[in-house]
Amino acid sequence: MKNIPISRPLIGDEEKEAVLAVLESGQLTQGPRVRRFEEAFAAMCGVQEAIAVNSGTAALMIALLAHGVGPGDEVITSPFTFAATANAVLFSGARPVFVDVSDVDFNIDPALIEAKVTPRTKAIIPVHLFGHPCDMAAIMAIAERHRLAVIEDACQAVAATVSDKKAGSFGSGCFSFYATKNMTTGEGGMITTNDPQIAEKARMIRNHGQAARYSAATTGYNFRLTDVAAAIGIVQLTRLARFTERRRANAAYLSQHLRGVITPTERLGCRHVYHQYTIRVPSAQPDSSQARDVLAARLESTGIQTTVYYPTPIHQQPYYRGLGYNDSLPVAERLSCEVLSLPVHPALTQDDLKTIVAAVNESTEEA
Ligand SMILES: *Cc1c(COP(=O)(O)O)cnc(C)c1O
Repeated sequence: MKNIPISRPLIGDEEKEAVLAVLESGQLTQGPRVRRFEEAFAAMCGVQEAIAVNSGTAALMIALLAHGVGPGDEVITSPFTFAATANAVLFSGARPVFVDVSDVDFNIDPALIEAKVTPRTKAIIPVHLFGHPCDMAAIMAIAERHRLAVIEDACQAVAATVSDKKAGSFGSGCFSFYATKNMTTGEGGMITTNDPQIAEKARMIRNHGQAARYSAATTGYNFRLTDVAAAIGIVQLTRLARFTERRRANAAYLSQHLRGVITPTERLGCRHVYHQYTIRVPSAQPDSSQARDVLAARLESTGIQTTVYYPTPIHQQPYYRGLGYNDSLPVAERLSCEVLSLPVHPALTQDDLKTIVAAVNESTEEA
């Protein structure tokens, strides 16, 4: 039987040699390689400043604190995302306010944002889900009108673009280099910004709030990245363009050949980087996941790993229910019953792609 995983990091000889060189140098913690990684990432992203940290979650937390978000504030974001997005808001002391998403690109629906803006609203966190950028022109216009900070959760969207501008370069950007992401350092993250004050604050919060050694200017944590991880990141960054091309070519093949399911779209002017290739499999009953689950089980039985990102929107998860969230966000709720992510990663072979297409089409033709 085939075994086609949903993701697979591509680590080559160059990464291995880079790590060995760090180990031999004796400089294991944050050092010159972190700085080089930041400079290379800022150049790729088209921003002035990049601050490397030890996870995407840390990037979100730091960005919120650097923008002055705290207790009493509200932060508008998507309910259809990984829990880290909303958890970071809770950890800042602010309250996440969920706005429903679009069923075209799975991202926050800009038309619904302004109804949720209150005098307490301090920031918007658009999440570029699955690698497809949000409608940033509309979101930036709303943010400007209401003087809100924009913190992009670009953890899944490294190198995605809207009108040739990179995700993470509109507001402050947050990236993750977790092992399943489009480029990896094992664990790791990055904050991007064009605002030197935000960059300065972020660098302090990353390192115990210190402005200079043993002189705290604010409160902070240890959110530092290691030079070992940065060495991997520097190499991965040189390979990112090829990784992305492979993801896009794999996605194009799947979209051309899959039948009986709704394939992902790429909005005009956007460049999707296909962190996930997410199809929709609607059931006859709108609140049922039956058709999706049947297809997932069928693929699993033929050795094709699939995943549901995300089976429960954040506002419906037990902890958030306990906090009193009882919003009705019908699009996110329906999508959570319909979505299924198929393998699209750059390690797939042409044979793997044919196997995936054959298995999906066989299953949907029978249905
Ligand atoms: C991966 C991810 C995060 C968290 O990143 P970590 O590096 O795992 O902490 C946050 N938001 C989204 C949308 C993600 O996909």
